[in-house]
Amino acid sequence: MIKKTLISALALVACIIGIQAQTQVIAHRGFWKTEGSAQNSIAALEKAAEERLYGSEFDVQVTLDGKLIVNHDAKFQGFVIAETPFKELKKIKLKNGEKLPTLKKYLKAGKKQDIQLILEIKSHKSKEVEDKMAADIVKMVKKMGLQKQVEYIAFSLNICEQLAKLTPESEIAYLNGNLSPAELKKKGINGIDYNQKVLEKHPEWVEEAHRLGMKVNVWTVNKEDMMRKFIDMKVDYITTDYPLETQKLL
Ligand code: MG
Repeated sequence: MIKKTLISALALVACIIGIQAQTQVIAHRGFWKTEGSAQNSIAALEKAAEERLYGSEFDVQVTLDGKLIVNHDAKFQGFVIAETPFKELKKIKLKNGEKLPTLKKYLKAGKKQDIQLILEIKSHKSKEVEDKMAADIVKMVKKMGLQKQVEYIAFSLNICEQLAKLTPESEIAYLNGNLSPAELKKKGINGIDYNQKVLEKHPEWVEEAHRLGMKVNVWTVNKEDMMRKFIDMKVDYITTDYPLETQKLL
């Protein structure tokens, strides 16, 4: 009897640990490979939420006059975003007919949804501009009461360091793949979000990050065998263009 109880208690513990270690899915640039959607559109964010994914990722850039907008490419439909004032960019339409979203509009739409907003701040050639982007974004997120719903990612180490100072309680993950979890932890950065090739080369970083209480995200995993591989490695999040296919494996 005691033995049986012990076994079921152990099974329960294993089950709880198992649930905690379950990989979750983040839609890369939103869920855009579906009817009526487009990369980094508000529709893509809403469609990701409809699929009950963990998170929806999107990219933030700044215009010449300091307006924060959501878009992936530095050059979009013939405009260099960082060198163009917003009044010229606001005419741009996305592939699904939506207007190029401002960050404010995007966050407003996200606030209505039950999904984590994975906000990538794009690098800028000027440190001053990057610092201001980080400060303005954190201020907007706090003002809108979204501190718990927004998680930050960036390739720029400077941006991650600024975020660690401005909002140390937030989830902040570094994308660039060239630093170990321990090195980032020292800088107050609490997550890694690395290319799949980096984690294939450094599988030990998954455990190292977890030991340090850091989260592990991997991008952009679009092939089923790789999805399976990272689920087995117990990464926290898989960022993918195929969220439904990833979801099915979990
Ligand atoms: Mg991105």
